[in-house]
Amino acid sequence: MKTAFFLTAVILVVEFAGGLISHSLALLSDAGHVLTDIISIGLSWFALRQSEKPSNTRMTYGYYRSGILAALFNGMLLILITIWILWEAYGRFRNPEHVAPLWMFISAGVGLLVNLYLGLGMRHDEDLNVRSAVLHMLGDASASAAVIVGGIIIAFTNWFVIDPVLSVLISILIAMGAWRIVKQTVAILMEGTPKGIDFDKVVSEMKSIPGVQDVHDVHIWSITSGKNALSCHVVINGDMTIHESQNVLRDMEHRLVHMGIGHVTIQAEDTAHPHDDSELCCTEELAHEH
Ligand SMILES: [Zn+2]
Ligand SMILES: [Zn+2]
Ligand SMILES: [Zn+2]
Ligand SMILES: [Zn+2]
Repeated sequence: MKTAFFLTAVILVVEFAGGLISHSLALLSDAGHVLTDIISIGLSWFALRQSEKPSNTRMTYGYYRSGILAALFNGMLLILITIWILWEAYGRFRNPEHVAPLWMFISAGVGLLVNLYLGLGMRHDEDLNVRSAVLHMLGDASASAAVIVGGIIIAFTNWFVIDPVLSVLISILIAMGAWRIVKQTVAILMEGTPKGIDFDKVVSEMKSIPGVQDVHDVHIWSITSGKNALSCHVVINGDMTIHESQNVLRDMEHRLVHMGIGHVTIQAEDTAHPHDDSELCCTEELAHEH
C-alpha cells in the first residue's frame, strides 16, 4: 500500500505538470482522477486504522462507518471533478486549444508504466479488494494509453479536438466509478438491506425453524460493508421454558451466521404480543399507557 501510495503520487505530479505545460485537458483530467485515487488510498488506510478502534459508550458500533463516510466523500469529490472536466471540455470543443503532444506523450507514458507495474505485480492475489484495485489500475493504464495514442495523432494531424474528446471519455470512466461508490455508501447509510442478502429468503429461513410460529419487525442492515446485522421479534409458544426458547434462538443465530449475518438481536414473544404482525417494521411507535 505504501509503494502504491508513493508511486501514484509520482503519477499525479508528472501528469499535473505535464497537463499544465502541454495545455492538455486530457492529462489534467487524468491527473484529477489520480488525485482522487490517492485520496481513496489514504482514506482506506485511515479507515482501516479507525475500524481497529474498539467500540465505547459514546460510539457503541465502534468506528467502522468512518470508512463509509470517507468513501462517500471520495465519490462526491469524483463527481465534482467530472463536472469540471465536462465544463472545460465544452469550452474547448467550441474553441480548440493548442496542446503540446510531446508532453502528453511523456507524462501519460509515466502513468501507463507505473499503473502496469502496480497492476501486474498484484495480478495473482485472490482477495476481492485487491482484485478490484488491480482492475482499477488496468483501467487507469488504458486511460493513459489513450492519451498517448491521442498525443501521437495530434502530433501528425494537429486535430486538437482529440484532447477534449479524450477528456470526456476519461470523465465518463471517473463518473461510473463515482456513481458505484456513492450508490453503495448511501445504501449503507440508509440502513438498506445489504447487497447479497435476500430479505425474503432470510425471513422464510427463520420461519422454518421448529418452534418458531411467526417473525415480525425485521431489520437487516450493514454496520459497514461486509458486517451485517439483523434485529427482529420472534413469536414462540408461550408455554416454552426459557431454556427451550434459548435453543430456538441459538438455532436461529446459527442459521443467520450461515447467511452472512453475524450480529443478531432477537426479541422473543408469545402470540399475545401487542405489535403488528408485518415482517416489515411498522413505523408507528407503541401506544403508551399506564
Ligand atoms: Zn484510478
Ligand atoms: Zn455452522
Ligand atoms: Zn413484537
Ligand atoms: Zn422496527
